Amino acid sequence: MEVAVESGAGQGVPIYDPAYVDAGATVVPDPVALYESADIVLKVEPPIMNDAAGRHEADLMRQGALLIGFLRPSGDVDLVKKLADNWISSFSMDAIPRTARAQSMDALTSMASIAGYKAALIAANALGGFVPMMITAAGTLAPAKGLVIGAGVAGLQAIATARRMGAVIYGYDVRPAVGEQVRSLGANFIEPQVVVAEAEHASGYAKRLSAQTQQRERDIVHEHVAEVDFVITTAAVPGRPAPTIVTEAMVKDMRPGAVIVDIAAETGGNCELTRPGEVVVAYGVAIHGPLGLPSSMPVHASRMYSRNISNFLLHLVSNGVFEPDFDDDITMASCVTHDGQVVGVPAEGLGRSIPRGSYVKAEADRESSS
Ligand code: NAD
Repeated sequence: MEVAVESGAGQGVPIYDPAYVDAGATVVPDPVALYESADIVLKVEPPIMNDAAGRHEADLMRQGALLIGFLRPSGDVDLVKKLADNWISSFSMDAIPRTARAQSMDALTSMASIAGYKAALIAANALGGFVPMMITAAGTLAPAKGLVIGAGVAGLQAIATARRMGAVIYGYDVRPAVGEQVRSLGANFIEPQVVVAEAEHASGYAKRLSAQTQQRERDIVHEHVAEVDFVITTAAVPGRPAPTIVTEAMVKDMRPGAVIVDIAAETGGNCELTRPGEVVVAYGVAIHGPLGLPSSMPVHASRMYSRNISNFLLHLVSNGVFEPDFDDDITMASCVTHDGQVVGVPAEGLGRSIPRGSYVKAEADRESSS
């Protein structure tokens, strides 16, 4: 494949343009020329209005081109229709299944690992004391105690990072199956009371809980938040706003000087008092709602994402030709549009809200215009 890179694309890492040339790519300053020349477009974010070109990026692409990126299709039906209308084959990195075979392409996991690691650092930095136990001439200082809510990829990474710093950690998740993973990191697992079938979908993702169950689970969390120096919240239910787990009443019961790092702020937050993108102080507790954590670690975020996306590209392309095999579960699950049709928009990260082939307007338009 011949590779062209948008001029300045790596500046934030920083990787400067000459490094791409040294690696065998060409650097193209004009976005219109770049998009128009490409059979395949690899991106991080979904196509947007390109201010430099004065046109939407999905309109700059060639008909029949292949697009891969974090397209988040269930949140943007207009974009999905535009991609189908423009006859673009699009595949979304956030819809790649979480299976062993797809592991090398799983950018959700890569980015969640970064977010979890960074959450533990934010918590440690915001505390007014040491994290590890310190035996000093001025006496012995107890290690910091933390509670991590949600023990998926991000939560487990937050636990591992906080444990490496010497914190005493409690982990909680609504899925009882993760107890073993939490304990394997040297943390204590707070057992949920919910039955497995109510908490966990067959795919391994958490389900939305009933109001009654949610209240019972909150009571379990409430007992523990008052005892810890920091809380890291990572709980998510695919395709839905983050569940509210830490209520204002719980914050009120926390120690003054305690810290909450709510990385579910991206989807609204797990704490009732979180304001996405801000740090708020309530009842003496600092509540951090960080956004875009992977871009705060651009070196490894870029390295991991480029590895994931190139593995996925090589999965779709054989002998230099883009030939999607829709009998393949990774290809099928991640395809958003193909041949002028909407193939699938993941609903809740599990199924499909628009069935295959339901959007055929583009095809009809083509036939009438020819
Ligand atoms: P996620 O980001 O969707 O959710 C984070 C965590 O929040 C999950 O563990 C979930 O159970 C938990 N949660 C949801 N509601 C909650 C509530 N009310 N209270 C407490 N916790 C709550 O999850 P993820 O990190 O993307 O992982 C999703 C699944 O995919 C997991 O089963 C994970 O093990 C699996 N996975 C598999 C692979 C693989 O096999 N290659 C890779 C990555 C993830």
